[in-house]
Amino acid sequence: MRKILFVFIVFGLSACMKGESVDFVIFNAKIHTLGEKDQIHQAMAIRDGKIIEIGPDRQILNKYRFESSIDAEGKEIYPGFIDAHGHLFSYAELKLGANVLGCESEEDMLTKVHDYQNNAQRDIIIGLGWDHSLWGVSELPNNTRLNEEFPQTPVCLFRIDGHSALVNDAFIEKIVDIDSNIRGGEVLMTNGKPNGMFIDAAISLLEPHIPDYSIEEIKRELIGIQKELFGFGITGVHEAGIDFNELGILREIVEEGSFVLNVYAMLNPTEENKRFALKNGIFQTRNLRVRSFKAYVDGALGSSGALLKEDYSDKPSYRGLSLMSAKELNNLAEFCLDVGYQLNSHGIGDSAISMILDMCANVYKTKPDHRFRIEHAQVVDLKDLHKFADYGVFPSVQPTHATTDQRWIESKIGANRMKGAYAYKSLKNQLGMIAIGTDFPVEYTNPFYTIHSAVYRKNPKNEPVKGFLINEALSFQETLKGMTFWNAFSAFEEQYLGTLEPGKKATFVILDKPLNHTSNFMDNFSWKTYIDGRLVHSLE
Ligand SMILES: [Zn+2]
Repeated sequence: MRKILFVFIVFGLSACMKGESVDFVIFNAKIHTLGEKDQIHQAMAIRDGKIIEIGPDRQILNKYRFESSIDAEGKEIYPGFIDAHGHLFSYAELKLGANVLGCESEEDMLTKVHDYQNNAQRDIIIGLGWDHSLWGVSELPNNTRLNEEFPQTPVCLFRIDGHSALVNDAFIEKIVDIDSNIRGGEVLMTNGKPNGMFIDAAISLLEPHIPDYSIEEIKRELIGIQKELFGFGITGVHEAGIDFNELGILREIVEEGSFVLNVYAMLNPTEENKRFALKNGIFQTRNLRVRSFKAYVDGALGSSGALLKEDYSDKPSYRGLSLMSAKELNNLAEFCLDVGYQLNSHGIGDSAISMILDMCANVYKTKPDHRFRIEHAQVVDLKDLHKFADYGVFPSVQPTHATTDQRWIESKIGANRMKGAYAYKSLKNQLGMIAIGTDFPVEYTNPFYTIHSAVYRKNPKNEPVKGFLINEALSFQETLKGMTFWNAFSAFEEQYLGTLEPGKKATFVILDKPLNHTSNFMDNFSWKTYIDGRLVHSLE
């Protein structure tokens, strides 16, 4: 009897108070807030794209008036995933060009290029995605076979990391002056003649001859990529380096309203982009924000372009490529401070990372909360590790790189340097935070692969059995934070994104399956994805 009376009072009270209206309510959910205290709630009231309140079903359903409600069927809700390092435009170009991703031999790659050209009939063929380590060879290829297959049509095929390209002689003929001593790059030679491999800065010799796809083609692909990302519950991307014309395309589709993905775009340090930053300062239009530059300090490990302090283990007297001097990097940092931007520096080898950390030491003196980032931070000299904490430097890493590179990394850097390689746990322990992304299209966009790689340190085939450098694994909670709140923080967006709390944007994913339902994270996707309270993806 007392119980009945109690229930009557509670519901009676609620009915009297029920009045405040919201746009909709989600109930019967497991809402992981990922806030300070990671709580799990059942229901959420949403109005004008923002979270009004989170709490038990009864509390939320009784308190608010709403036009519609969504029964989440007991599913898990997380803040929308943010990919801290992706390349929307490279991915669009990959989709428009010859896609040679995953080819297991050079012949396989050539077949794919033929297949592409049979349909596309391009005057110049551009492709992306080969990885010679999948062909069972350690040496970079030359263009002998490419010339045989394509004697007339110019072909340029970028390696998966975009840091080198294999081109045929028909393409090379277009380049008037080949300076093989280009700074920060290499044109590989055989018998005094270019053999088809152009590395890092040498790619600038190819660029004038690479045709642009039409703006309409690129927009169409970007919209397609957005759809793919929403299907995985990804609601934001930190675009890691765009030119001024690409910024223009982004602005157009954002302002047209057809591209609602949250984009934090890093600008390439070109003169046009610097003028843009000087004129606009921190720039925002709808879901696009610009407040950082990207610096390219060295190349990538796969093509031996990462700048190391000591020789490569498989290449005596060779330490990689320096794409910027310390002075140039410092000048760019000064410019960023002047315009109120962050500087996110690509640093893969221990020497490049050291140089960036020293630059940050200077910046820290004038602006401690600079949130300058090091993108990749793949091989860190353990002696430098403490500088991440000392100078407030944000590491931005891609766990799937670790599990992909495990096949060949030790042959390049040797056992000793492995202690500081892909050292995500050690890096996270410095600042207490780490930003996590994929570097798509170098790796898959799939965030569930990222969780699997970060937590188990295994590739999608579950190799190696005990995990690669397993002591550097992140916990499940750390990984989730690294894909949401810490990423928002690394972009100065933590006030409105990254956790599910009243006042924050209603940007979240309802997962199809519980995230830790088995030891397999990979077999999952989004049931429904919302951005600013708007449904952008639904399985049903
Ligand atoms: Zn990248």
